[in-house]
Amino acid sequence: MYDTLRQRMIREHLLARDIHDERVLEAMAEVPRHLFIPENYREHAYADGPIAIGIGQTISQPYIVALMTQMLQLRGNEKVLEIGTGSGYQAAILAELASMVYSVERHSGLAKQAESVLQSLDYKNIEIVIADGSQGLAQYAPYDAILVTAAAPCTPQPLLDELKEGGRLVIPVGQQWEQHLYLWKRRQDSFEKQISTLVSFVPLRGDYGWGYSDWQD
Ligand code: SAH
Repeated sequence: MYDTLRQRMIREHLLARDIHDERVLEAMAEVPRHLFIPENYREHAYADGPIAIGIGQTISQPYIVALMTQMLQLRGNEKVLEIGTGSGYQAAILAELASMVYSVERHSGLAKQAESVLQSLDYKNIEIVIADGSQGLAQYAPYDAILVTAAAPCTPQPLLDELKEGGRLVIPVGQQWEQHLYLWKRRQDSFEKQISTLVSFVPLRGDYGWGYSDWQD
């Protein structure tokens, strides 16, 4: 049943929009999204929207996962950093497409849950780190690609600094309820920015994220 729902998700929510990177489509067809979702919501796993995963956090809509991944243009040999592990689903998609994924989560409960699902699916190229990812992850820097899956007030400088030459960073930037996806590309010491799709993410917290007085949970 889930296989049929997943095929339909690919046709109706990805191909029917602007997802055309074959490798991204294959990864989305491969990863069992329903296993990353609490049991009582699993029937909605392949619907066209985000789903609550506990502690006020969400797993993103399949289309947004595919779009952000496509923007990174992964070819298979990259070292990728994700900020905001959440359920671990986006990390699994990245792991299908790159050689190594480091994923940072500030909630240890979510990190442990994600780790156990990823282990049960036998992913060996994902390392989850419990920390404030708004400050980047210096220990494995620099990265070919960085993906932030929580909304930032502006792009944290440490993340730009941890990009390799030619590297790409995708991050939602804006206010509560309404942000735009920014795509940054590093060209030596300068950074090019493209602003794209309107999105709505939960807040990035931490040093370079939102304070609780500006964005309440
Ligand atoms: N990528 C996830 C969805 C992320 S929801 C998935 O595929 O399911 C956003 C996540 O970012 C939440 O789990 C939240 O706890 C986390 N987060 C917010 N601020 C953070 C920070 N400063 N460092 C690390 N994780 C953070």
